[in-house]
Amino acid sequence: MSDGPAAGDAVDVVIVGAGAAGLSLAHRLPDTASVVLVDAPAGPLRPPERTWCFWEEGPGEYDDAVSASWDLLRVRGADGRPAQGSAAPLRYKMLRSRAFEALVAERLRGRPAFRRVEAAVDAVRDLPGGGAEARGVAGDGRRIALRARWVFDSRPPRRLPPARTTLFQHFRGWFLRAERAAFEPGVADLMDFRVRQPDRGLSFGYVLPFGPREALVEYTEFTPALLDRDGYERALRHYTRDVLDLGAVRVPAVEQGVIPMTDAAFPRRAGTSVFRIGTAGGATRPATGYTFAAVSLRRRRPRGYRFALGRPPSSHIR
Ligand SMILES: Cc1cc2nc3c(=O)[nH]c(=O)nc-3n(C[C@H](O)[C@H](O)[C@H](O)COP(=O)(O)OP(=O)(O)OC[C@H]3O[C@@H](n4cnc5c(N)ncnc54)[C@H](O)[C@@H]3O)c2cc1C
Repeated sequence: MSDGPAAGDAVDVVIVGAGAAGLSLAHRLPDTASVVLVDAPAGPLRPPERTWCFWEEGPGEYDDAVSASWDLLRVRGADGRPAQGSAAPLRYKMLRSRAFEALVAERLRGRPAFRRVEAAVDAVRDLPGGGAEARGVAGDGRRIALRARWVFDSRPPRRLPPARTTLFQHFRGWFLRAERAAFEPGVADLMDFRVRQPDRGLSFGYVLPFGPREALVEYTEFTPALLDRDGYERALRHYTRDVLDLGAVRVPAVEQGVIPMTDAAFPRRAGTSVFRIGTAGGATRPATGYTFAAVSLRRRRPRGYRFALGRPPSSHIR
């Protein structure tokens, strides 16, 4: 197996960040492109394992990593009344980020012109003579510079751009096992408003069942301020015990997250040869927080689509 481009070589593409957007882009680029994918070393910059859900019609190219899927979706009002429907021809699919990373890593393995690097990137900039570079600190403390014709940067923005409206979608979820059979494995509850509502914004329960006793149960708020850990735990206890009436539950794993919901503009172009991708490039839908489908799924190409590594970037990437 080749080690890919040697350190110091200028390559076609440097991708900063091996999350949903970075891995999807690396996977999508042609085998012939020389690519360096750089991700932060294990530590505070690297996010913990997450669950990504998305809608897709028919079989998809990441199905081998999908851990569950549903075609019946439900929303419950504050009075508990359900509205349920089929998503067909779509399915609501769930994959865990580690499974996605492993699948993509397997597919990239053996690409002769692909290389992975671990470094905390602290600067990405155009170069005066053309192309761009990403600079950072490698796992062993050395400073490195990665040069490319194009750099795609998915590092999360340090602060959100100014906006008329900024809410946060923030949540904590329990992967739980209930004592009694309490879930309908074929139905995903996208929003259950039987939870206590905050003074500003709204909150809901979210239930993705894997079996009659197992589910991911989340408490989510769309509000301007985050809760502390106890706040989420209290809300989850209330939802699972008093609303869902699950009785005693075991919680082998949890997940927690914050997704910005904002009408701010996220400029995708950060230089002549530098683009932002993923959440950093505005791929998160402000009204829902969904991002995965936008960065990962294959789309029908618009008429006139053309993006060749050797030519100036075409106008759709602005
Ligand atoms: C807990 C959680 C659950 C979510 N669930 C869903 C969902 O169900 N469906 C959905 O559509 N969206 C979901 N989202 C929103 C969105 O899909 C994810 O945030 C998604 O990971 C965004 O992809 P990304 O590539 O932009 O960022 P990330 O996946 O976060 O990738 C960023 C990468 O950059 C790397 N990085 C950061 N700083 C540096 C640095 N200085 N140098 C080098 N590398 C760096 C990180 O290690 C990381 O690998 C969820 C978000 C969270 C937090």
